[in-house]
Formats: sequence, C-alpha cells, structure tokens
Amino acid sequence: SLTIGIVGLPNVGKSTLFNALTKNDVLAANYPFATIEPNVGVVGVPDPRLAKLAEVFGSAKQLPATVDFVDIAGIVRGASEGEGLGNKFLANIRESDAICQVIRAFKDENVVHVDGKVSPKDDIETINTELILADLQTIEKVLPRLQKESRIKKDIGPKVKAVEEAQKILESGQTLFAAGIAQGTEAAEPLHDLHLLTGKPFLYVFNVDEDELTDEDFKNEQRALVAPAEAIFLNAKLEQDLAELDDEEALELLQSVGQDEPGLATLARVGFNTLGLQTYLTAGPKESRAWTIKRGATAPEAAGVIHTDFQKGFIKAEVISFADLIETGSVAEARAKGKARMEGKEYVMQDGDVVEFRFNV
Ligand code: GDP
Repeated sequence: SLTIGIVGLPNVGKSTLFNALTKNDVLAANYPFATIEPNVGVVGVPDPRLAKLAEVFGSAKQLPATVDFVDIAGIVRGASEGEGLGNKFLANIRESDAICQVIRAFKDENVVHVDGKVSPKDDIETINTELILADLQTIEKVLPRLQKESRIKKDIGPKVKAVEEAQKILESGQTLFAAGIAQGTEAAEPLHDLHLLTGKPFLYVFNVDEDELTDEDFKNEQRALVAPAEAIFLNAKLEQDLAELDDEEALELLQSVGQDEPGLATLARVGFNTLGLQTYLTAGPKESRAWTIKRGATAPEAAGVIHTDFQKGFIKAEVISFADLIETGSVAEARAKGKARMEGKEYVMQDGDVVEFRFNV
C-alpha cells in the first residue's frame, strides 16, 4: 500500500504526533493478527457514510479506508551530503509515496529549537534545501551521460530537456512539486526513472499552540508558505491526549479548543487525497466497508482490491450511489426505482459508489 513519510527537524513534535497516530491504530482494532512495523502508524480515514450504511444493512462492523504513515527519523542539516544517517534518511524518503513535513509553530521555551528560534518559514526552507540538494546530485550524476547519448539517440532529446528544466527549477530553490512538476503529472513523466524526492506530493503539519488552532490570520499566513501543498494545523500534545479518551470525552475536549474533529482525522483525510486515492463502498450484514483505489480506477480494478479472482472473473458491477441508497432506504427499493446501475469493464469508479460485483469463479 502507499505510504506517507513523516519528516521534520528535531524537537518539532514528530514523536509526539507519531505516538498519537499509533494509539489511533485502526489495524490493531480490526485486524488483530496483522503485523505492523514499529515505525508505521495506520490511521483510519473518517467516513460518516459508513455509519449510515451500517444502519441500512444492519452491519456488525464498520471498516474505514486507511492511510499508512512512516516515521522517518533523522533529518539533519547536511543529510544530502550522504553521511550515515543522512543516507538512510534519503533512502526512506525515496520509498515513501508522499512527504509530510512537521513544522514547529508552538512557542514553549522549555523545548529547545535546533536553530534557536521558532520560524516555520526557515524550517521549511532547511528541509526543502536538503531535499533539493539531494535531487540536484541525482541529476548531476545522470545528466552528462544523457546529454552525450542524445547526440546519437535523438529520441531522448525531450528527456534531456526535461531533466535540464528540472535542474533549473531546483537551482532556483524551488521543489519540483511546488513548480507543478509533481509525480503523476505529464510534465514529470520523463523524470520518472530518476526517482527525484521533491517531485513527490507534499503536505505540511503545523504543530501549533492551542490558541493558534482558531487563529485564521495566522493559519492563512502558513498556508501561503506551503501552497500548493495542503496545510494541517494541530497540537501534537492535544492529539496524544485525544487518542487516550473515549469518543464523548474527546469531543468535549475538542470543543473546548474550538475544533470539531481531531487533527489526526484531518491529517488522514488530506493524506489520503494527497496520495491520489479514492474509496468505494460495500455493505452487508457482516460489515460496511470503504475500499481504497487509485483515482480513476475501473470497476474490474476496484474488484481486484477485494480479491484478484474478482478482477479475473469480473462480469459486471451493480452500482448504487450512496445518496440514492440512503434516499430510497434499501437495495430493493433502489432497484425498484431504477437507481441501481449495471456497469461493465470500462466503468470508472466514482466517489460514493456502493457496489456489488458479479463475477465468474
Ligand atoms: P521530535 O524530535 O520532532 O520527535 O519531537 P518530540 O515529539 O520528541 O517533541 C519534542 C518536545 O516538544 C517534547 O518535550 C514534547 O513534549 C514537546 N512538544 C511536542 N509537541 C508539542 C506541542 O504541541 N506543544 C508543546 N508545548 N510542546 C510540544
């Protein structure tokens, strides 16, 4: 499955946040025999539709989609110079599908800042600089060879141009993601085999003081720093406390600081979207469940997420939109009112599709 790597300078609250993430671990609750790496936190993507489906179908369980967060310790200035920890750090980022930077905004004087002062802007720059330098090194290693080759093999011309363009962007201090050359876009296609770090999707977690959670001016300033990436504002210590409370107590605590959901819930949802993922839904007496697919997946691909045999033997999918199902109140009523569609192999899954697959075994 796809993973989001959590990075950040020392003392910004990564471990605190990660502790909260692992306490929230949905795998532990729903799949007691799953083995989980110690540096991975699996978080449920909150989906209020599951409770509604569970009501309609009398489901015993509700299983949300999940996002995997990996704790990537050890960013240090000079990581790109490839010494010990630095090398491992970069290798771990290379394996992640998105990068989540944790940025300190809280002002506690008892917690030392590595650079002596709290400045989100400087911290973002410090981390981005290491990633940019690492990408420039990758490019400097391959570019001369590509340029030489292109004199004979004319068809790699566009690739050389794309790499040169990327080099210019990085030299100007911008990440490829910020420049719009993000993994998955057409512009990034020729760069694919270079596995550049700054082309991964980024998201930013600002670890803020409680009073900043509701300070819109402050938050807009930070959003501007990181756009087009998403910014999430939370207080890591508060998240850790929330993870230890039952739902009712947690809601009370949240409301006392002007929030309606935990920051981790927002983080899971934003992370899921940042990875380019989407869900579809299945429901029955046993469980109501959200399944994870890539945005744009077809019906057979979606079936394959449940079982490879479902994909191989795919015949068709009976699809009812969530809204239609809730409005009609049951599958039988939805069918009677013509709201159930039979979709074939070419069908592209839509958000909120409630599905039953028909397949040959
Ligand atoms: P890491 O080095 O990035 O993993 O940071 P830690 O999670 O170990 O946190 C560093 C210190 O900051 C610890 O003493 C935490 O208790 C404290 N800390 C973490 N989050 C917050 C926060 O939101 N507010 C305050 N005041 N302190 C925090």
